[in-house]
Amino acid sequence: PPPGADVFDETHEELARLLANCAVPPIERARLQRLAVTDAHTGTFNQGYLAPRLGEELERARRTGAPLSLLMMDLDHFKRVNDTHGHAVGDAVLRAFADGVRETVRPYDVLVRRGGEEFVLIMPGTEPDEASNVAERIRAHTEASPAHVDGTGALAYTVSIGVSCWDGAEDGATLERRADEAMYEGKRRGRNAVVRSPFG
Ligand code: GH3
Ligand code: MG
Ligand code: MG
Repeated sequence: PPPGADVFDETHEELARLLANCAVPPIERARLQRLAVTDAHTGTFNQGYLAPRLGEELERARRTGAPLSLLMMDLDHFKRVNDTHGHAVGDAVLRAFADGVRETVRPYDVLVRRGGEEFVLIMPGTEPDEASNVAERIRAHTEASPAHVDGTGALAYTVSIGVSCWDGAEDGATLERRADEAMYEGKRRGRNAVVRSPFG
């Protein structure tokens, strides 16, 4: 036999099996933990994850003095998409939007589906001007990237985005509300728009 052929015996094999099995519970636990905070439909984080994660990020920003910005994104006239093409097509558009945002942002930005056709993006370490640039990139990318839906073809849609930047003192709910108000101002201005809070 070649040199070293008999180095491992059944005892080693048994030991390797034992160690491999020890790794299963932590891996399974991590999978379940991830599942609990994920929106199954779009693969983004879910609503329940938003407040605690935003709280953590604000705490970190407070500690480090880093900036933090937040985007509130709401698809325009989305009821029409459902009414015209059906709920399944609407669902596919939501997935396409989430995929598009993920392609556009950094890995450490946190994308959350707040509910329905509304998404929040938490951007740790991001200054106001940069946040507005990201929002504009998402708006333009969405407008230029129709969703390709089986049986329906290319479906153009747009998004309105509100931008708020942490003032160094406010809580997460206030930061979110300001982004919400800016987003609604975008709707009033005709949709397919980016508005930064505060606005006049
Ligand atoms: P606006 O531009 O003012 O935001 O108009 P809108 O129609 O998007 O707003 P509205 O809040 O009136 O309606 C939101 C619609 O989004 C209602 C519903 O038809 C659709 N919607 C919400 N959640 C889902 C979902 O999970 N799947 C699908 N397909 N549609 C959804
Ligand atoms: Mg909405
Ligand atoms: Mg909408």
